[in-house]
Amino acid sequence: MCGIVGYLGHRRALPVLLNGLKRLEYRGYDSAGIAVPTEDGLYIAKRAGTVAQLEALLAGVELPATSGIGHTRWATHGEPLDRNAHPHTDASGRIAIVHNGIIENYSTLKAKLREDGYTFRSDTDTEVLAVFIGALYEQYGDLELAVRTALSEVQGTFGIVILCADQPDTLIAARRGSPIVIGIGDGEYIVASDATAIVEYTRSVFYLTDDEMAIITREGCQTKTIDDIPTSVQLLELEFDLERIEKGGFPHFMLKEIYEQPQTFLDACRGRLLPHEGNVKLGGLRSVEPQLRRARRLILTGCGTSWHAALVGEYWIEELARLPVEVEYASEFRYRNPVLFPEDIVIAISQSGETADTLAAVREAKLRGATVLGIVNVVGSSIARETHAGVYIHAGPEIGVASTKAFTSQLAVLMLLALYLGRMRHLSAAQAQDIAAEIRRLPEKIQYILDHAEHIRQIARQYAQARNFLYLGRGVNFPIALEGALKLKEIAYIHAEGYPAAEMKHGPIALIDENMPVVVIAPRDELYEKVLSNIEEIRARHGQIIAIANEGDTELPHVANHIITIPHTLPLLTPVLTVIPLQLLAYFIAVERGLNVDMPRNLAKSVTVE
Ligand code: GLU
Repeated sequence: MCGIVGYLGHRRALPVLLNGLKRLEYRGYDSAGIAVPTEDGLYIAKRAGTVAQLEALLAGVELPATSGIGHTRWATHGEPLDRNAHPHTDASGRIAIVHNGIIENYSTLKAKLREDGYTFRSDTDTEVLAVFIGALYEQYGDLELAVRTALSEVQGTFGIVILCADQPDTLIAARRGSPIVIGIGDGEYIVASDATAIVEYTRSVFYLTDDEMAIITREGCQTKTIDDIPTSVQLLELEFDLERIEKGGFPHFMLKEIYEQPQTFLDACRGRLLPHEGNVKLGGLRSVEPQLRRARRLILTGCGTSWHAALVGEYWIEELARLPVEVEYASEFRYRNPVLFPEDIVIAISQSGETADTLAAVREAKLRGATVLGIVNVVGSSIARETHAGVYIHAGPEIGVASTKAFTSQLAVLMLLALYLGRMRHLSAAQAQDIAAEIRRLPEKIQYILDHAEHIRQIARQYAQARNFLYLGRGVNFPIALEGALKLKEIAYIHAEGYPAAEMKHGPIALIDENMPVVVIAPRDELYEKVLSNIEEIRARHGQIIAIANEGDTELPHVANHIITIPHTLPLLTPVLTVIPLQLLAYFIAVERGLNVDMPRNLAKSVTVE
């Protein structure tokens, strides 16, 4: 998620905070804000928009404070509006908090606080935490105890920093699942969500671990668990330069985002997948549950990578919910004269939520009376606002133009949707439990593939100068063949085509000779033997075969030139794993060709034009 900065030291806090927020801008964000103590309580400035706009708001404001907190927000709960920007305060306005992450049980907490007479000014989960801490502070008169008690009741993820007007010389920071790093300078502390905001003040830092908190005062910094057990920290010396850490140590955003996938996949499922009950909770769809029960057909629509996710969704939903699904390019849907029945549900998929063609398809479907849902990453985006209901993928900002983590998070949500619709229909709890348990194991399996990326880099070196590529897959991996080919086209500028493997003999086989690399997705599933036959056909024509195979496969090494292995999973879930090596292959080939991976020519991150 987004950026946090906190300061306690001898400098004026405001410039340090604004500078820190600028350093964190590379992460992508939608709002910015600061809070510093004054003699009359906290001074808070926040707004939707850029840090530069926040700075303009603060022009001419002189604040002597030498402590304070700041935030760049990437909205998850509530649109990017001024009132939803951080810092958020408790009811008294004396406690301010900046937060990265998601408070999953915020609605339960909010309902309880409302019963106690508290009111809320924003739509965020964060404000609920602020008000909760404030309520406990009122009760105990002890800020640290209030924070610890609140955090022990909170579910979800947080990196937070808290400032209280009653103790202007104290900052309290804590984390669970969202990073907090604390820099120790000469008589000063800088807290941040990543070291970028710290490195120009000090190189001596430590990271909080999950469920650990720091109480920072002018006398020193004390760390403990949120259960009040003292901890010791390990100081590290930052060794990297600014340019490098802006990408979290990765040379490109795209690679960083590829490596974020174990986490982002988990985040998309967090609080939604209920493995023990064999069920799924999708709060965003509650209001349309009757329509989903009645639905006779789903139409999934999107563009590019989102369209590929939709194709995987089609297999999943038809398989698990036995509900007919059609997938349609949004750009075609909007201009055709689509037949829509009143019970149809149209689901628009878009990372940015601003894709012009998809938005137009949403409007067209609404006009014709369909129930329209969104699967979107950016909260408060046009598609999120204009659809009747929807599910956010919570992948965090995706900066690389070629989509990677948003794709696997779209898959996560589509699988959850398939289970949800399945459980409304024929899918038994036991079947759903098995699938849910395996979904839980996918992040570590993605990690396994990432840990073996070097092998993929070596393969990429050999084929970086190829002029054409074929990608083949069958069944649920056919859309992954399309996605693999798209990644290569987008960033390596190599002509590539994806095909269902069996279609090869109906045309593209004519292209195969010793200069044609063919990537074949061949996990052990019910179509494995058939794919093996397709591979033999390529071999007979001297094509170069790069096979994506399950670990321990004994047959493919005899027929393929290269093997990239993936861990075993349920056949239905393999797309989540098979796409990872294809992202890496495209990435390494593009790097080998010396191309600008994050900003490929002619492409824009969100296509807001027709
Ligand atoms: N969930 C919080 C919000 O929507 C924090 C988002 C963030 O990490 O920036 O305001």
